Amino acid sequence: MISFSSPELFRARWLQSDTNYLLGGGSNTLFLEDFDGQVFINEMRGIEHAESDTHHLLRVAGGENWHALVTYCLDKGWYGMENLALIPGSVGASPIQNIGAYGVEVGQFIASVELIDIQSGKATTLNNSECEFGYRDSVFKKALAGKTLITHVNFALPKTYSPVVSYGELAALDNPTAQQVYDTVIAVRKSKLPDPDELGNAGSFFKNPVVSVSHFERLKKAASTIPGFVVDNGVKIPAAWLIDQCGFKGKTEGGVRCHITQPLVLTNTGEAVGNDVVKLARSIMDTVRERYDIALEAEVRLVGRNGVINL
Ligand SMILES: Cc1cc2nc3c(=O)[nH]c(=O)nc-3n(C[C@H](O)[C@H](O)[C@H](O)COP(=O)(O)OP(=O)(O)OC[C@H]3O[C@@H](n4cnc5c(N)ncnc54)[C@H](O)[C@@H]3O)c2cc1C
Repeated sequence: MISFSSPELFRARWLQSDTNYLLGGGSNTLFLEDFDGQVFINEMRGIEHAESDTHHLLRVAGGENWHALVTYCLDKGWYGMENLALIPGSVGASPIQNIGAYGVEVGQFIASVELIDIQSGKATTLNNSECEFGYRDSVFKKALAGKTLITHVNFALPKTYSPVVSYGELAALDNPTAQQVYDTVIAVRKSKLPDPDELGNAGSFFKNPVVSVSHFERLKKAASTIPGFVVDNGVKIPAAWLIDQCGFKGKTEGGVRCHITQPLVLTNTGEAVGNDVVKLARSIMDTVRERYDIALEAEVRLVGRNGVINL
């Protein structure tokens, strides 16, 4: 493992090998076997604050911890990101899949992302629209995948606080303070999601699939209770519902368990190795495809001996 605290140090070592993997907090990465190359750990730290008439402006180094940043902002009275409390990982990884929870996505608060092109060393700043944020998606998962080091993320938090309580358990809150939203999000997450420090898991294993409206209508005729949320490019269906309907919730195979309170999460009961996880994940994907004609896509990065592997 190679820790780095500056882009120059990172790049100098990275270019010494053809087989490299960059880690932030490692929470969205699953090593299936020993990696035959260099693994880099981002230790770039620092939070700078400025303000305009309307916003708190933060420039945060990619190696900072995400949840610690949310807590720091709350303590300072810079509100908005409370719904994203307790999401594991680093600030540098947060724009990559546009982390989201409880009706909020980080892209809403990102003014720009600073990065370097790993091969050329050229530094660039992408503004919000250039980041192409979408549901669990951004340019960093598409055209720029694997090509850049995100060095800093610039946030703009509105000075006027308007809580987002449209989603799930937060809907019960009446005009809450930011602290109340933060506390509720943490309590709900703790009650539903296993703590990776106690029970190995990488969060949601699959993305929620988006199907066409006609596909959704076909499914609805066969299964009237199927939930769906209209989005820009079709209808988003909770993958947890599909997995549950296919009988996987609570099921354990080869030491890998489909979590009982959130079937989107696969946990290691202690003995499982990478291929056990792949086996159960493939079995879930095959069953969902056969039954609903939907191809689930892994949200977690799977890394084999030589690099990233697609399921
Ligand atoms: C229990 C649990 C709950 C979770 N809940 C949520 C949730 O509610 N919402 C949600 O959206 N996600 C959730 N996740 C997923 C995870 O928290 C996010 O994907 C997070 O952004 C991963 O950060 P990381 O630093 O740990 O990423 P890592 O696993 O270290 O890296 C992920 C990818 O980003 C790349 N990367 C990391 N840092 C950089 C950088 N500075 N520059 C360029 N590339 C980089 C890596 O190479 C890798 O490809 C959850 C995960 C767990 C384990």
